Amino acid sequence: MPYKNILERAGDRVMSMAELMEDNSFKKIPRNKIEYFIDESINIGNETANNFLNKYSSIEGICEHKKIEIKIETEEYDFETVRLRGEYKEGKEKIIMYKRSMKRMEEAYKKLGMDFLNYDNIYKILLAHELFHYIESKEIGKIYEKLEQIYVIKLGPLKRLFPIQKTSDIGANVFVKHVLDLSFNPKILNYLYFWGSGLVDKNRILNYLDELDENLMYLS
Ligand SMILES: [Zn+2]
Repeated sequence: MPYKNILERAGDRVMSMAELMEDNSFKKIPRNKIEYFIDESINIGNETANNFLNKYSSIEGICEHKKIEIKIETEEYDFETVRLRGEYKEGKEKIIMYKRSMKRMEEAYKKLGMDFLNYDNIYKILLAHELFHYIESKEIGKIYEKLEQIYVIKLGPLKRLFPIQKTSDIGANVFVKHVLDLSFNPKILNYLYFWGSGLVDKNRILNYLDELDENLMYLS
């Protein structure tokens, strides 16, 4: 199983670091604040998962109880499939799942021998992710609005406060891992998808994981 040592390294802190580094304002975050954003977001993801596991037995059960409409979109354009897998429509009780993207993911994972990542499981993982954004929006508030904002200088002397939007995805990934009882943080699935699609090789992912580990070590 060539993917095994990658999955084993995909813990919450490492993958949260990866998520945070993708934030547009990452470079502006003071170094002594990075752990704050990672830890607080992980805590909210875990707490939210615990609350829901106490009340419901499955993510489908949550969606049913909250009367969230799940639409499986089968029509999509190729240029959309790069980004769109699932989508929570802000302010509505509706989550859209993109079938062709999920099929593509299934194909890529199959190439790596990851048969457990079949369509049904991919669907659950992506649905749980969007469900977290629904819960943020409707019930607990968005993580990036709850956490501190950071100053970013945009034009000349003007400093403005900006939220760190990727903290919401850190929370979502941790929520998904916990609610579905996965052994890995689902953020890693993006990199495995790139590998299975032939866009990167295994060493590139391992090198990136080394870099993330180093970044985390540097903080403590
Ligand atoms: Zn998200």
